[in-house]
Parts: sequence; structure tokens; C-alpha cells
Amino acid sequence: MCGIFGVYNNNNASKLTYLGLHALQHRGQEAVGIAVSNRYEINMKKAEGLVMQSLDEKSLNELKGDIAIGHVRYSTSGKSNPQNVQPFLSHFYKGSFAVAHNGNIVNADLIREELEKEGAIFYTTSDTEVFIHLIAKAKNTTDFGINLHPNDREFLPLLFSAMKKVKGAYSLLILRENQLIAVRDPFGFRPLVLGKNKQGSIFLASESCALDIVEAEYLRDLKAGEVLVIDGDGLRSYYPLGFVDKAYKCIFEYVYFSRPDSIIFQDYVYSIRKEMGRQLAREMPIDADVVVPVLDSGMLSAKGYSEESGIPLEIGLIRNHYIGRSFIQPIQEIRDLSVKLKLNPVRQVVEGKRIILIDDSLVRGTTAKKIVRMLRRAGAKEIHFLISSPPVVSPCVYGIDTPTKEELIASSKSVNEIKEYIGVDTLYYLSLEGMIKSAMNNKNKGFCTACFTGDYPVL
Ligand code: SF4
Repeated sequence: MCGIFGVYNNNNASKLTYLGLHALQHRGQEAVGIAVSNRYEINMKKAEGLVMQSLDEKSLNELKGDIAIGHVRYSTSGKSNPQNVQPFLSHFYKGSFAVAHNGNIVNADLIREELEKEGAIFYTTSDTEVFIHLIAKAKNTTDFGINLHPNDREFLPLLFSAMKKVKGAYSLLILRENQLIAVRDPFGFRPLVLGKNKQGSIFLASESCALDIVEAEYLRDLKAGEVLVIDGDGLRSYYPLGFVDKAYKCIFEYVYFSRPDSIIFQDYVYSIRKEMGRQLAREMPIDADVVVPVLDSGMLSAKGYSEESGIPLEIGLIRNHYIGRSFIQPIQEIRDLSVKLKLNPVRQVVEGKRIILIDDSLVRGTTAKKIVRMLRRAGAKEIHFLISSPPVVSPCVYGIDTPTKEELIASSKSVNEIKEYIGVDTLYYLSLEGMIKSAMNNKNKGFCTACFTGDYPVL
């Protein structure tokens, strides 16, 4: 859970990166960092907190240059501390480079142990630093059988060699003094899109909503395994690990994580999320009075269900958007305070009604139980709880922050037991086949579904 953004060839690079990162804020709220090259050196600012609260105009003005990369962080690997805030800037015998990473390297601990035994000293606990060490210590080998552009002969073989050693999920942006390099792992777990504005500046972002904010046009997704180099000689793509037969794009990006106004993996998140709701209606038709989304995450699947079933969609829960990062501890006597800070039922909509309550996923089940109790207290006659994805049974190891297996309610309880625990009349999860069918089109095949199946494609 992180967002990355990059700009090439724009004198407002730091400010545009700031805006792009703000659009990606949902991907990470712990910390933000921007690195900028003025073609001679790379400078950087990093801070903990939200983009708009952590970086001011003065800091951005100090970051002069026309190439930049940025990162918003939500820690899935390494602790949440200032050392782990990205980008990471390194200096070695071939110059300087800064790295911003979204994903999770599954063999990072193993590689780290080997490197430490050889005398390497790590400054962070992040898996990304492993990548940097591998680049810095790689031999300048050209045995990849790839004809490299002269500008790429120095650094790229080192990067290719590092890519050969790491396993897992990585969408990377690398800033060098005169180059911006974008990398997507050979399985394509995490998204990365390419855009361009009318002035000819090039942009890279985790999601296309970050291109919209800087008025850049979405051109395409980076391909799984692609290394894209952008410099004064144009754009060049390499595939150092060859083409994989099957990509494992994270389907959870479509279910929950990406913004609905984004295009990722060559398709609109909005239409796929709505299709998941339509599919839910086909799989589980229910005679009820209203469809109520759990805001904001369940909104589009609820709309899809409503359209397919003909049952009206009503906003039966109102969300309070003004919850800060810290709030008073729940008072014991008010059992549902933690959820009431966020959601409150609309009695007029739910009283005496048979409700189809829809959310995108069910992870721990504790919040759902509180929502159901609130709706019952507001007079709901029946509550049929439908989830527009299958039961989450295994944690993610590719960069999405899911709880441990023990905390995942579906890893130890049957659907019937969960239904009893939450206190609903019906509980139904979208089938795995239904979810995949909703996300697929003729361009868009091959998804990771490991958190729903326990079947990890790379370990
Ligand atoms: S395990 Fe789940 S959340 Fe993680 S990459 Fe796969 S589909 Fe996405």
C-alpha cells in the first residue's frame, strides 16, 4: 500500500509531484517524500504525515529541477519510522539515484541476511533498500542479450541484475541525474501507468487519477516486466526477464484499493467495481426493499446490485469525513462509538425495511457487527449482508496491508458462523469465478487472488 508518481521534463516537477501524490493519498497516509534532479544533483524532502500537511510551498520551491519522483507510504514492510520514508537516495561509484517503490519483495529477508554477512550495512528496515544494495554491488554484466542504447549501458545492467535476484511485487521509479526509469515486476502485481501532457512532459503514476490532477493524458499501463527509460533521447522499453506467460495483477486493487476514477490494468476501476455488484445480484437475488452501501467502499457494487435487481439504492448510512488521525478513545459505555464516529444510520431509510447491505470486502468482521447493530437499533426489519468479493482467508504478501491470518475472520469461521457472529439474516460472498469474470475483459487476463485462495503465485 503505497503510491508513486514521477515527472520528466517539467520545471515545476516538484509541485506537480506534490499534486500527483495528493491524488494518490488513499494509497498511503503515513509519510511523503519527493526527490528532484536539476541535472547535476538530486535533492530531496521527506516528512511524516499527509501530503498537504507535511510539505509546504517553501520546501517545494527549494526542490529545483525538471525530473522528480515521489512516494506516499503505508508501511507493509519495515516499521513506520522516519528512516523508512521514501524515496531513498543513494550515492555510489556510478553516480546518485533515488528510488520509490510500491509493492513487497518476498525474499528480501533472505537477501538482506546474505548481504549483511558480506558486510553490508542497512540504514532502514524496508525491503526496498535490498534492491538498492543489489544495484550498487552488481557487476556491470551485459549477459542479458539485450542491445542497450548507449545512455543505458552503465546503469541498466546493474538494475537488470538486481531484478533477477528479487522475487515479489515491485512497481519502481528510479531517478538519476538525467534519467527517469520506471519498472514493473514480471508478474505485474501492482499498477503503474504512463501519461503525457500537452507541453510534452512525461508522467508515471500508480493510478491514472494522479495523471488527471496534473492534466496529463493516460497513454498506457506499463507492461509486466517492462523497464522504461526516459531521457533526452526519448523513451525506450526493455524486458530483461523476458515475457511471462501469465500476469498476476492484484485483483484487490479493483475490489477496494484503487480510486474508482482511475484506470489501472487497462480498465476503469469504476465499471469493474459496479460489475462486481451486478454479478452479486445475478448470483444472489433477494426480495428486499432497499439496497444500502457501506460508504464509501461499498458504493459502486451497491449501485451495480441495484441496477441489476431493480431494487432502489438508498443512502442508509451517512459517513462523517472529518475523522482525524487521532481521536478520543472509545468510552466503554458506548459500545459502538468507534464505528459511530464514522457512520450513522438514516432512520427514515432503514426503519421497518428489508435491507440489502453491501460492502466490498469483509476482513475482521468487527466493524460489520457494529454497523449491523446500529441498523437494527434504527429499526431495520431484515438485514441481508452481501460482499462483492470472496472471503479473505490469507494475508497479502505483495504489498497490501491485510491483517494476520488469525485476525481474518474467514480463515477460521465458516460463512454460517460469520453470519451468526455479525447478526444478519443472510450473508453471501461473491464467488471467486464471479469476481474474476467481472474484472476480466479481452485485454485484461491474469490476476492474483491469493488473499481469497491462499494460492500464492510467487514465494
Ligand atoms: S494477495 Fe490479494 S491483495 Fe495481495 S496482491 Fe494478491 S490479490 Fe492483491
